[in-house]
Amino acid sequence: NKQVILKNYVTGMPKESDMAVTTHNTITLKLPESSNSVIVKNLYLSCDPYMRGRMRKPDSPSFVGSFVPGSPLSGYGVGKVVVSGHPNFKEGDLVLAWGTTGWEEYSVIAAPETLLKIQSTDVPLSYYTGILGMPGMTAYAGFYEVCTPQKGERVFVSAASGAVGQLVGQFAKLLGCYVVGSAGSKEKVDLLKNKFGFDEGFNYKEEPNFEAALKRYFPEGIDIYFDNVGGKMLDAVLLNMRIHGRIAVCGMISQYNLDQPEGVHNLVNIVGRRVRMQGFLAGDYLHLYPKYLQMVFPYIKEGKVVYVEDVSEGIESAPAALLGLFTGRNVGKKVVLVARE
Ligand code: NDP
Repeated sequence: NKQVILKNYVTGMPKESDMAVTTHNTITLKLPESSNSVIVKNLYLSCDPYMRGRMRKPDSPSFVGSFVPGSPLSGYGVGKVVVSGHPNFKEGDLVLAWGTTGWEEYSVIAAPETLLKIQSTDVPLSYYTGILGMPGMTAYAGFYEVCTPQKGERVFVSAASGAVGQLVGQFAKLLGCYVVGSAGSKEKVDLLKNKFGFDEGFNYKEEPNFEAALKRYFPEGIDIYFDNVGGKMLDAVLLNMRIHGRIAVCGMISQYNLDQPEGVHNLVNIVGRRVRMQGFLAGDYLHLYPKYLQMVFPYIKEGKVVYVEDVSEGIESAPAALLGLFTGRNVGKKVVLVARE
């Protein structure tokens, strides 16, 4: 059973050498009589930015627990049941593990209530790590529930070509909003405009002055900011919000590898402009997952929403795949193919 283990807690930018792919572990594909666990053969591992928080020492502030050095990383993943001690699952079932997939070839899932059975397989299975999984729910809950959007509003999305951002932009377009995204390369900006249907996009790495860029695309200001990056971009947005605007703070990836988070200087603007700023976690909206699937399946089938993935092959590629999120190497949802069905 090959595993990707965390070698040590990480400070600063994580490196491949902070992880190791070990090959000596074996797994018995058998459960004790009384066990209600499920053994899953992992097919896809999802690379998600929140995993960086789990590489910190346990005393650092984070909403999820730290990984244990010497043990495999874990996260969201798609797998196939090979042995089941639980009445709801049988051999051959395809499942989405909500945060409990080990980064290994086979995982013993001791909390089978975290497994969601995959019913529809007429879409790529990997979609359950992205558009049909946690990032999809993040875009859905964050945009519709937190941003409370109205047709015609002006929407700005950062990290806009990524797992979450590409969906937020497309949902906003379907609602009839004006949508602009920022991303870190020309290739990504082309995707925003030519594949996802954003009205405009810009490469923030080539914009020395974010505030000026935002003024150019939002001469009348921003109604909704879907924040994936925090930091300097958030500060620039705060100078460009419209009255009664909303900022959904989904994530702040520009801060995750800093020992000290940068300060935000322009917060005072939310008072006079009556801006509502709210952080949220997708997990708080799990009750909406069936409703979300009902909405998004027809969109996928009719081609109204598209999804770009960036798949690495083989568990050996997993450390580099994860780290690519923090350099922007990923183009779309980053996922690791461990085994075919
Ligand atoms: P992405 O697929 O967007 O990948 C991460 C991207 O972030 C990179 O491709 C890169 O894109 C960008 N990035 C990396 N470093 C920086 C930086 N220093 N400054 C600006 N951009 C940077 O990831 P996700 O869509 O999965 O996640 C997006 C955000 O949403 C993250 O902040 C994540 O933590 C958050 N999130 C929150 C959830 C919640 O429940 N609240 C759930 C899921 C995700 P580029 O090349 O454009 O710079």
